[in-house]
Amino acid sequence: MIIPAHIWTPWFSLFGAFSGFDSIEDCYQDQTKNIHAVETGLSSDPPMNWRLSSLDRYTLVSNSDSHSPWPWRIGREANALVLYELTYRGIVEAIMRKGVNRVEFTIETDPSYGKYHWTGHRRCGVSMSPIEAIKLRNICPVCGRKLTKGVSQRVEELADRPDGFKPKNVPGYIHLLPLSEIIQVTKGYSSPNVRQVWSAYSKLIDRFGDEYTVLMEAPAKEIAETTDSEIAGSVISVREGRVKITPGYDGVYGKIDLLTGKENVKTKARRRGTLDDFL
Ligand SMILES: [Zn+2]
Ligand SMILES: [Zn+2]
Repeated sequence: MIIPAHIWTPWFSLFGAFSGFDSIEDCYQDQTKNIHAVETGLSSDPPMNWRLSSLDRYTLVSNSDSHSPWPWRIGREANALVLYELTYRGIVEAIMRKGVNRVEFTIETDPSYGKYHWTGHRRCGVSMSPIEAIKLRNICPVCGRKLTKGVSQRVEELADRPDGFKPKNVPGYIHLLPLSEIIQVTKGYSSPNVRQVWSAYSKLIDRFGDEYTVLMEAPAKEIAETTDSEIAGSVISVREGRVKITPGYDGVYGKIDLLTGKENVKTKARRRGTLDDFL
């Protein structure tokens, strides 16, 4: 089984703006029969891929694409499978949608977080949405050269369905962000790789066992008890989708701008008077 990785990335990927393929068959020809799934990459999520009817017969999977050794890159995207038999065959059957095993949902970063969501030029500090880029005919207003076309623009070019279309019987998905980066942004550090971030991160892992439990299930009150109410508020904001991200472009990661809802936890705490010790 072959699963093409991050199929939308501009450089050297299946649908990449610079690789020249508009369909799976054009790219893989007689080997297309061995492809049962495609990996959506960080810069796209299932709703973006659902806009191509030609992808309906492929299972969408999401992997970490962890090229670097930083631990916060591991598991930033993942697949949740229901397996009646934890074997290679079971996993293959889930992906091929045969039998009782199945892909239940995928864990996604917000596609804006990915390094190629919008169109732009890294060196020129220029980034823009597909609509703006098309207006400028993909020419950089700073250097006059061709812009690096982002994933959202490429999806727009190949889509044969409107934004918001959802095919029947597809696995679900949730948006999360790496816990280390949530702590970093909340506390205003320049990198997740600082002692204070690791300290808060490790306390949470010690208490809840793993990062997904913190991100998806741990109660705000207990996160606040273990670290502080600001971090608790940010984790809940990410869980509930209340995050603003300046989209990534031309190899630059999206910037997590605002984790709203810090106020929520504080307000609740004041109202109920249970978190005051931690404020
Ligand atoms: Zn990769
Ligand atoms: Zn430029």
